[in-house]
Amino acid sequence: MFDSLQERLSGILDALTRRGALTEADVAAALREVRRALLEADVALDVVRDFVEKVRERAIGADVVKSVTPGQMVVKIVHDVLVETLGADAQTIDLNAPPPVAIMMVGLQGSGKTTTTAKIAKRLSEKQKRKVLMASLDTRRPAAQEQLKVLGEQIGVDSLPIVAGQTPVQIAQRAMQAARLGGYDVVMLDTAGRQFVDEALMVEMAEIETAASPHEVLLVADALTGQDAVNLARAFDERLALTGIVLTRLDGDGRGGAALSMRAVTGKPIKLAGVGEKMDALEDFHPERIAGRILG
Ligand code: GDP
Repeated sequence: MFDSLQERLSGILDALTRRGALTEADVAAALREVRRALLEADVALDVVRDFVEKVRERAIGADVVKSVTPGQMVVKIVHDVLVETLGADAQTIDLNAPPPVAIMMVGLQGSGKTTTTAKIAKRLSEKQKRKVLMASLDTRRPAAQEQLKVLGEQIGVDSLPIVAGQTPVQIAQRAMQAARLGGYDVVMLDTAGRQFVDEALMVEMAEIETAASPHEVLLVADALTGQDAVNLARAFDERLALTGIVLTRLDGDGRGGAALSMRAVTGKPIKLAGVGEKMDALEDFHPERIAGRILG
């Protein structure tokens, strides 16, 4: 995770730390390299600009060049700004609402939506002891509802019985009713994806949102798509009340551009990260821990 960014940043910062005494020019040169490394990592331009400016201001404010360990002070400042950029206030799924709490999962096809739906259901049922019902609202891909059912059997979580011929909104309504009658705490609604955002998708998502009144609307986005993932979040947020992001494929993401830009650009917290194909490969997104990984 973030290997290439980590390599670049730790190279720059190690060199700075090794030098002992530093001049203002040394710090400025290092910051130019940090800027380049972040741009190469596909971090959004505005985010890079703010990042470097914050580090520069704090380095000047703290008078780092006059300190005994100037390099280490710069590293500490970079670390702190990294945590802030990632979203200092770590957030996770909020179930604080009268049951059944609906969690609506949205995103493009292939982003890992169905897998993530099942991963979250497993976590809520095993770790948080919630009674969870999963429902696939994907009526476009014939195998989609079956895929969720199979995953449900695998992880020991109930899925809504499949009824042919219903619309996504009808399935959502049936899921909410079944959850009420069955005493479920949580309903996971796995919506249909598309290859790209189009009007039909957005209309369908908005209708489901109205029908199910979800407490969480989570966008599942593929970290490997970098800035496209960030733009996707913006597009979805214009039409739906997104409450958070799940970034998938962080396990294969060497660059980190989506992770670093998402919060600053969209204002939405990354609540969870997918880190593999297995049902347990889901992590809370801890900015402190991620910053630690990025700085090596
Ligand atoms: P959907 O079309 O959005 O529902 O996508 P799927 O849930 O079917 O996932 C597509 C593929 O991505 C599957 O092969 C998943 O196993 C894989 N996948 C999902 N999340 C992750 C992740 O966090 N890391 C990795 N490496 N693969 C993932």
